[in-house]
Amino acid sequence: HNYTRELRQLDDRHNIHPFCDGKQLIERGSTIISRGEGCYVWDSDGNRLLDGMAGLWCVNVGYGRNELADVAAKQMRELPFYNMFFQSTTPPQISLAARLAEVTPDGLDHFFFANSGSEANDSIIRMVLHFWKVEGQPTKRHFIGRNLGYHGSTMAAVSIGGMKPMQDMHAAGHEILPGFHHIGEPHWYRHGGDQSPEDFAKSAAAELEDKIIELGAENVAGFIGEPIQGAGGVIEPPAGYWKEIERICRKHDVLMIVDEVICGFGRLGEWFGAQYYGVQPDVMTMAKGLSSGYLPISAVAFNSRINEALRSGGVLSHGYTYSGHPVACAVAEANIDIIENEGLVERTREETGPYFNEVIGQIAADHPLVGEKRGAGLLAGLQLMQDRGSKTFFEAGSTAAIQCRETALENGLIMRAVGTAMVLCPPLTITRGEIDELAEKTVMALDATAKVHGI
Ligand code: PLP
Repeated sequence: HNYTRELRQLDDRHNIHPFCDGKQLIERGSTIISRGEGCYVWDSDGNRLLDGMAGLWCVNVGYGRNELADVAAKQMRELPFYNMFFQSTTPPQISLAARLAEVTPDGLDHFFFANSGSEANDSIIRMVLHFWKVEGQPTKRHFIGRNLGYHGSTMAAVSIGGMKPMQDMHAAGHEILPGFHHIGEPHWYRHGGDQSPEDFAKSAAAELEDKIIELGAENVAGFIGEPIQGAGGVIEPPAGYWKEIERICRKHDVLMIVDEVICGFGRLGEWFGAQYYGVQPDVMTMAKGLSSGYLPISAVAFNSRINEALRSGGVLSHGYTYSGHPVACAVAEANIDIIENEGLVERTREETGPYFNEVIGQIAADHPLVGEKRGAGLLAGLQLMQDRGSKTFFEAGSTAAIQCRETALENGLIMRAVGTAMVLCPPLTITRGEIDELAEKTVMALDATAKVHGI
């Protein structure tokens, strides 16, 4: 405990924490995680915690994979770094690109590498603008994203994302960069009114067409969306939505950019969320599960039309020192091998995903605090409700979800509070027994929260 106290003091003295309220953090003291194995992590006091968030939606293969540590050490000894700028690259970088082409949807065979989801999405904006210029359509400069979309924290990613607090933090309600537009999130339970899910899918997608027509298709470069919106609260679109989005993008020659940072690498029981929804993106962002978080790496997949334009467009004046970092690439490829060799995608589709959905779905059906369960595969959101009978949502500033999160943590489960929803995204290696434990602890946390709110 002294050890933890000392660490917390140093943390308090020197760290700026992403997405935390500085004052609250001082009162509470940060959770210090020091070890991991399988689906569990241990804090600095030695408490074992079931990681219901796979780190930050990323540790798909679970903790403690010595083979990944060995691959990293071997590559570091052989060649810790070389760049891709000097008409150069490295064997692990080439090997990863070729390996990725095997698992990504057909037609998405060309990759650009970066270090984070934010950088990948920021890169997309620059590269797509360049693409349209090379194609002779330089007026296509506007991008359309969605409310509650999350695409990262760089200026372009915040602008195309739909997280109001991120934009309001310094822009007082204005979108940060010009040329970024938003349509509503396809959340039927909240916005569907009297419409059937099928009708709502159509009307939510029609917002995209309306926006394209308003801006003029000749001015629209691309639409970007997560297959299921993760950080927005696991917002799962109703059936038919993505097919309709695809149709509209094709009709207006607007690029369909799918952000697979959370949904990629097996999360929904397919390699990518686009495959889960049966659509063919033009551009796809990957990060997180690409290396299961063992090292920072991200990639953008482009179709051959874009690839050809980028190749013929002169010098590509874009890239990062660590684009295609050999150690990260070697680890990412070994991570893909684990996902494949252990059949984690199929297991998520056929066994653990259905069981997880059944168990979490049952909690949502039974628990008076929960209005809706959302998500697919091993990704779930539970919507907390002030009064589910009359479909009354908690007010935006409600602390219900935070209480639920803190109670879960005290009981040994890490779950995340997003607005007034709880979200779960465990490692793809989770067992039935661990899903039972996760469910039991979730119910304990919901019960305690309901009691505080007199529900
Ligand atoms: N895109 C999505 C869908 C994400 O969920 C995230 C992070 O949570 C990002 C992009 C940003 O990735 P990073 O935090 O690696 O920059």
